[in-house]
Amino acid sequence: MYQKLGISKRVENLAIKAESELKEEFYNVDKICEINSLKVLKAFQDNNVSEVHFGTTTGYGYDDIGRETIEKIYAQIFKAEDSLVRNQFISGTHALTVTLFGLLRPGDTLLSISGEPYDTLHEVIGIKENASSLKSFGVNYAQIDLINDDFDYEKIQDTLKNNKIKVIEIQRSKGYSTRKTISIEKVEKVIKAIREVDKNVIIMVDNCYCEFVTEKEPIEVGADIAVGSLIKNLGAGIATNGAYVVGRKDLINLVAERLTSPGEGKEVGPSLGANKQFLEGLFFAPSVVASSLKTAIFTSKIMEELGYKTEPRYDENRADIVQNIEFGNANDLVKYCQGIQKGSPIDSNSIPEPWDMPGYDDKVIMAAGAFTQGSSIELSCDGPIRPPYIAYQQGALTYQYGKLGVLKAVDNLLKK
Ligand SMILES: *Cc1c(COP(=O)(O)O)cnc(C)c1O
Repeated sequence: MYQKLGISKRVENLAIKAESELKEEFYNVDKICEINSLKVLKAFQDNNVSEVHFGTTTGYGYDDIGRETIEKIYAQIFKAEDSLVRNQFISGTHALTVTLFGLLRPGDTLLSISGEPYDTLHEVIGIKENASSLKSFGVNYAQIDLINDDFDYEKIQDTLKNNKIKVIEIQRSKGYSTRKTISIEKVEKVIKAIREVDKNVIIMVDNCYCEFVTEKEPIEVGADIAVGSLIKNLGAGIATNGAYVVGRKDLINLVAERLTSPGEGKEVGPSLGANKQFLEGLFFAPSVVASSLKTAIFTSKIMEELGYKTEPRYDENRADIVQNIEFGNANDLVKYCQGIQKGSPIDSNSIPEPWDMPGYDDKVIMAAGAFTQGSSIELSCDGPIRPPYIAYQQGALTYQYGKLGVLKAVDNLLKK
């Protein structure tokens, strides 16, 4: 069977061995999946989801009962006062942009306490020049780097004592960096430290890739507002675009008035057929996140067996669905990514090559044979062509497809 897909006997044997040693890790993933499934089912039932909610609105999108119900469900699942779940958000980057522009005014300061933010936010903030950045509107930016993958608690408290900060940003997932993803326990600890010295600063969490990986979400541990993408975890490969923002009601209102217009806010926004996708995506999300996690654990186990450095290690606690594999040379990174493409359901005959990409300093290779463009809850793998040549792999709609894709990549890597 494996050989029909072009996977060698050697790789098949590696897979059998790796998988037999992952029972405990997979059991833990299934436990979390059940807890989050329970949360979702309860929210669907408490909000009486029925076929009318699959309906659609056009134009202004007034009184879209499906959209309004989805936003109640998101608020309940995140234990937040309110939420904004919209297909008018292109993706996570757009929702983060709208949130920052919604909360910050000229003269205000944004402080990142998790080091440099995700690449696509550099031009949004003005870390990289752009005539439409927050900086160009007179919003200041400050940054405190992590030390040993943890917050610099002392410097954060000192900064808050001596400066007026409007918004603190915490990015949990690592982007194209080598740091660890920030666990919900660490987010809780730093929020306590922040509140000891500043009761008013708005704490915003970039929650991309972290939803449903563990039991708790950012609002439960004291964040004011959290943002994520629907072409990642919570869309489960079913939502074809969109993003969510959850949090305090007054803040969600500010974000909504920036997304649509002052005075209209959450009242407008045609769902254009997205309601059923959003509901169905959320319903599948606990299980799709679990499949992604199992694929990541399997990948890290098999690559460790082959002598590669991985992060996280296969038996480490995880806070997101991203798996790093360090290749140490460009050729192996490229071969692995090309193998992931060969193992995809869509565009399996395409061969990705490292290329210059807008917003990146180095050439980047991106493998993704996905149903939705840019979807990274589907098995995908990418990496900048720079030492130590790390592949960032994430997603898998089912564990079985994830595993087959990874075996195809390993096979391609080992073919000399
Ligand atoms: C993916 C990601 C984003 C951007 O989300 P898109 O939906 O790709 O625009 C922002 N922040 C982090 C940490 C991410 O991983």
